[in-house]
Amino acid sequence: MKRLVILGGGESGVGTALLAKAKGFEVFVSDKGVIKEKYKNVLIHNEIEWEEGQHTESKILNANLVMKSPGIPDKVPLVKQLRANGILIVSEIEFAAKYTSATLVGITGSNGKTTTATLTHHILKQELNVGLAGNIGDSFAKQILEEDYKNYVLEISSFQLDDIVDFKPHIAIITNITPDHLDRYDYKFENYIAAKFRIAENQTKDDYLIYDADDEVIADWFKNNSVQSTLLPFSLTKTIENGAYFKNNNITITIDNNQIIMPASNLALEGKHNIKNAMAASTVAHLLKIRKQTIRESLENFQGVEHRLEQVLKINKVQYINDSKATNVNATYYALESMDTPTVWIVGGQDKGNNYEELFPFVNEKVKAIICLGVDNEKLLHTFGNMVDIIVETQFMSEAVKIAYKIAESGDSVLLSPACASFDLFENYEDRGRQFKNAVRNL
Ligand code: ADP
Repeated sequence: MKRLVILGGGESGVGTALLAKAKGFEVFVSDKGVIKEKYKNVLIHNEIEWEEGQHTESKILNANLVMKSPGIPDKVPLVKQLRANGILIVSEIEFAAKYTSATLVGITGSNGKTTTATLTHHILKQELNVGLAGNIGDSFAKQILEEDYKNYVLEISSFQLDDIVDFKPHIAIITNITPDHLDRYDYKFENYIAAKFRIAENQTKDDYLIYDADDEVIADWFKNNSVQSTLLPFSLTKTIENGAYFKNNNITITIDNNQIIMPASNLALEGKHNIKNAMAASTVAHLLKIRKQTIRESLENFQGVEHRLEQVLKINKVQYINDSKATNVNATYYALESMDTPTVWIVGGQDKGNNYEELFPFVNEKVKAIICLGVDNEKLLHTFGNMVDIIVETQFMSEAVKIAYKIAESGDSVLLSPACASFDLFENYEDRGRQFKNAVRNL
């Protein structure tokens, strides 16, 4: 019997454990931290051996195969030792994909993964049997075991791609590439870019790679590298013969001379970035032969994902917007770009080596006040101090929202788009977004 050791007892780890057990593996789950109660119960109920608070080497180094959760970095000594011993380490998507013959749509990129994956799923599910997995909801492995859909839309982080071998989505999307998570890539942007492009490394010309043709990082990569995949770029700025583009408020998608044109004016989601996400998702739908009418209606009634430019409430004609998921400068760039009113901007948190320069034109043009919400706001105060009339700092969400309420006038917007990680003051970005919404509702 083959022994599979799973490092990390979270959603992907426990899902993999269930699938592996059903496929005849001897399974051991080891988590150095604490395993959540609900996952422990699943492991116990399914008689899967597990441990927490430690990694017992004698039970791990005898593995034939290891599944490592995406959250565990390569520099962990145990991981180094496993590699030195020649034991293959794979990610959940690599392990699980072997047990399904479904058509896989894999979506990666620095920003827009969740939105694009959710939107793609929303369109496809109107006409196809399709699951949504990866970094969203129930794990891919668990869904293969329990549902076995005919198609999957997978949101895939670079960490999942770091440990693939044969994984090959039939349709891959790279939404964009901007610097993020560099601490996991030896602080080398090129390593992170290479990790993202691994989504296409096993594709053949019968598979498709959809990507942002306006993204300079992607364009540069293609100058020195190539893929086997059939390329379907999308663009906001140029006409694309095979792929998608946006012109005169229409989205035009052409695949092998088969063209569909749809108006983008009724798109439920706002912002240029969401037109890109819509082009990517619709290209998938067109490839999978979803009817034009269905694609159009789905784009019009898709309500978006929580914490992504989420319209919370309008109070005294001031719109409050929760974009807590904007944890890097690029995401905030698109948030500020999409604002068409004077804006009170709540920003800050854990800085990731941010360079705010690309935001300057929007701040000059649209931002009337800045509320810095972080433990250390020095950089923000220094960067933006001369650019706006009002700049204040606080460490409490409730206070940030109250200050915003005082400053904002009829017709303005209050935008939480932090451009930073949340961990200095909040549990995570969801906690930050929820606290914002509660504070707004309590005004
Ligand atoms: P991810 O799953 O890659 O983190 P999300 O869909 O959760 O992406 O969006 C994260 C943040 O990026 C949100 O603030 C959202 O408004 C913004 N965003 C969404 N799509 C894009 C895009 N195509 N380009 C840049 N920013 C985007």
